[in-house]
Amino acid sequence: MATIHSRDLQQFHDVERALWKLFSVFGPLCGRCARKTLREHAAGKRDDRASWCCCMIDNQIHDHWDTLNPVQSHFDRKWYDKLTPLSMGRMPGNGPCPALGAQGCRLRKCRPVTCTTQLCSKMLAVLRCVGLYDGRTTAARQIEELLPLPDILHALYRTGGKGRKVTRDEVAQYIGMIHAYRAKFEAVAEDAHCAAIDAVLPDDGQDEEM
Ligand code: SF4
Ligand code: SF4
Repeated sequence: MATIHSRDLQQFHDVERALWKLFSVFGPLCGRCARKTLREHAAGKRDDRASWCCCMIDNQIHDHWDTLNPVQSHFDRKWYDKLTPLSMGRMPGNGPCPALGAQGCRLRKCRPVTCTTQLCSKMLAVLRCVGLYDGRTTAARQIEELLPLPDILHALYRTGGKGRKVTRDEVAQYIGMIHAYRAKFEAVAEDAHCAAIDAVLPDDGQDEEM
């Protein structure tokens, strides 16, 4: 097993925080998606299940166990025992993810790379609406497919086989490009920004509870 270095994980977390900040531009989207999933699941409606809340229909913890467990154990050996999975029964895709709690993901840092970099089809549709993306929206994509980012995350997380040394400049370049893309989204007029989110998932009147 490759050695985990605290410095690499800190750099990974620095990138991860920049990505979380970028993903915050989607505002109420994930909350609406989670509630829609719960409503449809409770009503036995499964036609749209492929677009249900990703954390409820995926199991990234077990899908990425071999790389995730050493990283999380580096912070806390009992991390897995401390999770309190939602009791919602079996969901499509072997979900819900055991890290999903009532307030969202319970992993405070160094989540699986896919969780950190994936733009779901609804997020892609919002980006399309505001003119920041012109590709397909039928399936999720990784952020590296939209922006020419340095290929550093798997090296920092030790998921890419033999690790290579990642430079500070590469980390700074990655974070700078993410901030620049976020700034483009924030430059879109707020009403257009909100309209795009509403067009993809309409307001269910409960956003203020998020
Ligand atoms: S990332 Fe997409 S699929 Fe996952 S909860 Fe948010 S809107 Fe739903
Ligand atoms: S690790 Fe967290 S973000 Fe990733 S699928 Fe599980 S709950 Fe969602």
